[in-house]
Amino acid sequence: MAKIRFLTFALIEILVSACMLASPMYAQSTRPNAEEGVAGEPYPNTPTIPPIGVRTGKYFDIPVSAQGPAIDAAKGYRLQNLGSGLYMITDNAVQSMFLVYDRGVVVIDAPQSYATKIRQAIKEVAGDKPITHLIYSHSHADHIGGAKGLGPIPIVIAQDETLRLLRRDADPNRPLPTLTFADQYTLHVGDQVLELTYRGPGHVPGNIFIYAPKQRVLMAIDIVFPGWMPWSRFADSQDVFDEIARLEDVRKIDWDTLVGGHVTRVGTHADVELQAEFYRDIKQAAAAALAATKVGETLNPLDVGNTWAIYDNYIDRVAAQCVNTVTPKWSTKLAGYDVFIWDQCYSMEQALRID
Ligand SMILES: [Zn+2]
Repeated sequence: MAKIRFLTFALIEILVSACMLASPMYAQSTRPNAEEGVAGEPYPNTPTIPPIGVRTGKYFDIPVSAQGPAIDAAKGYRLQNLGSGLYMITDNAVQSMFLVYDRGVVVIDAPQSYATKIRQAIKEVAGDKPITHLIYSHSHADHIGGAKGLGPIPIVIAQDETLRLLRRDADPNRPLPTLTFADQYTLHVGDQVLELTYRGPGHVPGNIFIYAPKQRVLMAIDIVFPGWMPWSRFADSQDVFDEIARLEDVRKIDWDTLVGGHVTRVGTHADVELQAEFYRDIKQAAAAALAATKVGETLNPLDVGNTWAIYDNYIDRVAAQCVNTVTPKWSTKLAGYDVFIWDQCYSMEQALRID
């Protein structure tokens, strides 16, 4: 399978080489040929990983370290006992939890993709106990877009910003919370406890940490992606540096099991350390690329009056250097590395330059 990808790149390289041969000026220098109006080579010394918009034949294989237990194909979900009445439910793409107590069940997130199966999953371990509470980790539809399918829930808990965003979104599939808080809220049900805290807007305003002290489980969504490259653009974070600060929070908290909200398995402290190291490397690589890259170089002189083109060319070159710097160390360490590395470098370039 890897051969297909290699052949694709080989084909691109042959095409690029053919173009360069046809234009001797092009091969000699990355400077544009003003007379002919030929743009400079946009991605010098790149890449084994095609940039955004260029298709790949086959992405890199997924390392064993990133593969989780298989889901039951007949049921369409996997249930993982996290101890003392706490369970993770997942379809190996999205993860949520529920907590069983003497008189009922607290559901934490209701993902679009499998919320209709949550009651069946609860029945497996808790019989017909009613869902008394629903907690929203944050407002995003992939995590709570199946909430309406659970039917009416007496108490729906979220952070204030989540209520504001859900009011704006007015999505009937994501009913409004009935109980909100600003900084922290502790839920006591029977002999179970969940500590909810809001630490900052990184991924999206309102995204909370949910800690189960008895089970020593931390649920922090869209911050850590165990074994995997984080989702595109630092998990589509609205504030990249605040998202990285939230990862630091996850590092410092004392837990045994992390539920990150996506991919195939629960997380360990080693997963968090690895991702923190990746974030440090990509920040360093993007900063070095910004320092080494000059605005306007290699721009086709015919585009000199086009401000957007000047910066597109500049940002492309910064991103290319960033990708080239981090790839040798990281391409086999994180599953899906090649899928999103260009997006990450682009995003870090933006964050360092303008945030
Ligand atoms: Zn999200």
